[in-house]
Amino acid sequence: MNAVFVNALDVILTFDYGSKASSKYYFSTFGTLVKIQIFLMPGFELFGDEERKEVNDVLETGILMRYGFDGPRKGIWKALELEKAITEVFGCNHAQLTSSGTSALTTAMCALGIGAGDEVIMPCFTFVASFEAVLSVGAIPVLVDIDETLTLDPAAVKAAITSKTKCVMPVHMCGSMADLDALKLICAEHHLILLEDACQSIGGTYKGKSLGTIGDAGTFSFDFVKTITCAEGGVIMTNNKEVFVKSDGYTDHGHDHLGVDRGADLHPFIGYNFRISELHAAVGLAQIRKLNTFLTIQKRNNKALRTYLEAIPEVNFRKVPDESGDSCSFLSWFLPSEELTKAVVSELKEQGLLAGNFYWFVNNWHYISKWDHLKNAVTLNPASEAQKASLLALQQTQFPASDAIMSRCISTAISLLWTDEQIKDKGEKLAAAIRKVIGKF
Ligand SMILES: *Cc1c(COP(=O)(O)O)cnc(C)c1O
Repeated sequence: MNAVFVNALDVILTFDYGSKASSKYYFSTFGTLVKIQIFLMPGFELFGDEERKEVNDVLETGILMRYGFDGPRKGIWKALELEKAITEVFGCNHAQLTSSGTSALTTAMCALGIGAGDEVIMPCFTFVASFEAVLSVGAIPVLVDIDETLTLDPAAVKAAITSKTKCVMPVHMCGSMADLDALKLICAEHHLILLEDACQSIGGTYKGKSLGTIGDAGTFSFDFVKTITCAEGGVIMTNNKEVFVKSDGYTDHGHDHLGVDRGADLHPFIGYNFRISELHAAVGLAQIRKLNTFLTIQKRNNKALRTYLEAIPEVNFRKVPDESGDSCSFLSWFLPSEELTKAVVSELKEQGLLAGNFYWFVNNWHYISKWDHLKNAVTLNPASEAQKASLLALQQTQFPASDAIMSRCISTAISLLWTDEQIKDKGEKLAAAIRKVIGKF
């Protein structure tokens, strides 16, 4: 057992390397021991004095809100500062912070005019937040197949276009990207909006541009397990000023933010409260300054682990449309058959090696096979008839092309905390387990 002491907030993170259950992180906060199962992308792994300093700046003034209180805040504007940093680091004209990645997607859709009855084409492999956001604006999620990029298959997108299609929403899953040139072409031909859910690919690029800045708008999540974290938070990035101004108002009850104080603001449209707090933004500000370090370590650890799997001829890797732009938060690999993959998963489980290796096909919340609540249209309040009908129709929809890919895919999460020794140990054990199973087939 390795113990890693993280000094912020007196949180002790112990990393129990190689024991039996699937994820083993124990956070001992102020003496309480809590075991949680996590899905990791690593901002929180390197957390410390820098974050504490930024949060303390806010605590010193006591102005925890991002708007107003101009005098007492003594020039501390963490959310504004983080938005500026986001535009500079990722190269976009505008950034609007939000309370979460989910609310960033909802806001982006509202600002782009996507609403009741509009169809949004999205992949059947993603995090549930993607379709939650579509449903939240009254639109209809149209789920289509992925390809070996683990993101939208452009041919499947084309085939799903109807007169109601308004938007194509690729999700850059597990650190890497969709085939954006192909999707951009389809959107241009059919006059569709391209909205990138880049929540899982902070720091990834495509042909030199940051993921999330290539479509009409794009979003990141800064939740606790994303590449950089605010604890909770998200952002909408866009080069379109109108989309930005609408996002800015929408996330703050429709305020136009043009008055001399909040009370003097006008409300040109109805909004909501999806604001980020200054405390959350402060954490993100410290994290974004470390992003390059995170990415450097992530890429190095990913490549190092990959060499062990590359040595096995039966193992193939995810197709990455622009290899140099992979953020490397995961190493996603394929085995030749579902049977073999399931046997490898069992073997890893038996040997206590499954932690950090995700078999999405049967695990968690990331693939259509597990979205019973969606397929049964289980909503707390009445959904529109059109939404309900489209969700119930998913019960009869098959995704054989995606099944054939996801049933053979394992994604290994890359930790920033691995030592060279641990990577060697992990790589050797993983490769040995795979070879052992292959030998039996
Ligand atoms: C994390 C995530 C989101 C939502 O982010 P939250 O900040 O947790 O609301 C959306 N889409 C994808 C693909 C994600 O992984």
